[in-house]
Amino acid sequence: MIRFAASTAALALALAAQPAAAQTDPNVTLADFEAKLEAMQIEDARVQWVNATYITDDTDALAARSGGELTAFAVKLALEAAKLRDAPGVTPETRRKLDVLRTALPIAAPTSPPGAALTLAGLVTKMSSSYGKGKGTLGGKPINGSDIEAAMGTERDPERLKEMWVSWHDNVGAPIRSDYVQAAAIANKGAVELGFADTGAMWRSGYDMPPEQFAALTDKIWKDVEPLYQSLYTYVRWKLNGKYGDAVQAKTGPIRADLLGNMWAQDWSNIYDVVAPAGAGDVGFDVSDLLKAKGYDAIKMVKAGENFYSSLGFAPLPATFWTRSQFTKPADREVICHASAWDIDNQDDLRIKMCIKVDAGDFVTIHHELGHNYYQRAYKQQPFLFKNGANDGFHEAIGDFIALSITPQYLVDIGLLDQAKVPSADKDIGLLLRQALEKVPGLAWTQVVDHWRWGVFSGEIKPDGLQAGWDRIRLQYQGVKPPVARDETRFDPGAKYHIPAQVPYMRYFLARVLQFQFYKAACTQAGWKGPLHRCSYYGNKAVGARLNAMLALGQSKPWPEALEAFTGTREISGKAVVEYFAPLKAWLDAQNRGKPQGF
Ligand SMILES: [Zn+2]
Repeated sequence: MIRFAASTAALALALAAQPAAAQTDPNVTLADFEAKLEAMQIEDARVQWVNATYITDDTDALAARSGGELTAFAVKLALEAAKLRDAPGVTPETRRKLDVLRTALPIAAPTSPPGAALTLAGLVTKMSSSYGKGKGTLGGKPINGSDIEAAMGTERDPERLKEMWVSWHDNVGAPIRSDYVQAAAIANKGAVELGFADTGAMWRSGYDMPPEQFAALTDKIWKDVEPLYQSLYTYVRWKLNGKYGDAVQAKTGPIRADLLGNMWAQDWSNIYDVVAPAGAGDVGFDVSDLLKAKGYDAIKMVKAGENFYSSLGFAPLPATFWTRSQFTKPADREVICHASAWDIDNQDDLRIKMCIKVDAGDFVTIHHELGHNYYQRAYKQQPFLFKNGANDGFHEAIGDFIALSITPQYLVDIGLLDQAKVPSADKDIGLLLRQALEKVPGLAWTQVVDHWRWGVFSGEIKPDGLQAGWDRIRLQYQGVKPPVARDETRFDPGAKYHIPAQVPYMRYFLARVLQFQFYKAACTQAGWKGPLHRCSYYGNKAVGARLNAMLALGQSKPWPEALEAFTGTREISGKAVVEYFAPLKAWLDAQNRGKPQGF
């Protein structure tokens, strides 16, 4: 799979790269590009693995150089691909691969004026590194990014929440405003050179349909799930008003963005204790306790994850997976603990990199990460440029879809939980409310990030109205407002990592919807009759076979075809999300009766 960061020296190097040797047959030229890119990518994967599992100044330098060279080559290929795709004699398969190359980079620099690539790379590096070093304050003292994120989840004093929110957005967002504007203007010229109207249109072109059609599709899916979001929103606003009073959170109008347990109001699960009805949160068992009681260690947890996939009929993980993965944090060196799944040689050298703790969170994460590995192995027969998810939402959706099936019954099936301890139906609201606070607000948030960027790239949001545009879109989708008034000296979008780092975001919206659609399809195939959120398809080989049919396609076909292979429909929709949460929505609507509705 090819993954490129919008990195640095790489974009500059692209300009120095020699043009490809002239080939008469564009299909042969493309095959040559593909072979070279794959060889470079495998080398780079080895370097990145060593760096991530053994961080030193030296491995940092090696990884930066290797990643830079790979990106540089990819930039060169994107430009070549844009020229080649309309050449006579291009086969449909070659054309599809050329489009993969043309849209593989998140942002592109133009070839002129000279130095544009270097300028763009410099701006992105500067913004990303400034984000990484960013600090807010709490009680007047500096607090770093990961600590302030955690504190936003646990702090309940509205003044301290406001301080953290405002200081983070002021310190991290505002300083990169002019750099961001400059970078967006350069990147737009690069996108035009690759044949797109602007960078936003380039991003929307990676989905097997014209960019305007993709925008309409995401709007349609949002309309499916918006009523569910509104019900949850109305209920949560009422509870926040009850906790904080009218002076902090009014009964009507927008919710104050800093009261929702998360810096961006994208996941509200941290305020479950604030909004849950009394007693609804207790499901009668704790997965972390169960794992410890049964003597689970890191390896045994990963074996349990593997067992889930084996039960669906997938072959066991290769022996090298067990000897080459990083399961626990080494005692003697620095590593990146953030969980990830790897496929070093694009064949069988699958690995995960984690620092596993024996708890419920990591038990879910293992099931998620292995989803990436099984996807990678399922499409290993595809040519290199098709070794990827059907679109960029699919890869994340697979792991989350598998993790959704960690139901109480599944815990019984694998011997972790006694059958008698399976919570009764009267616990459903608690289970679903917790799940909804985690999954549903993200549907609104994932609309915000790229609707704003699409507007900036298209010129609909002007450089002198970036903050106002951001506040307007947040209000439109999320119904939240900043705790203090903002003006155009601010730049709140810059206080979210993916904006300075130039990572497209609509993939996370798709992944969130697709995981429920996959889950619903699996449960239907398994003949499940009860409420959707209780379904486990563990052990069902027919489900596994159909899942594999989708995974094995990789990116070789338009994504609706992959979706159809597993779910029987070519249409992505929010209907499965709505069905999953239907019992909760009915309950929320009953609670909300007679209360102020909507934003
Ligand atoms: Zn993932």
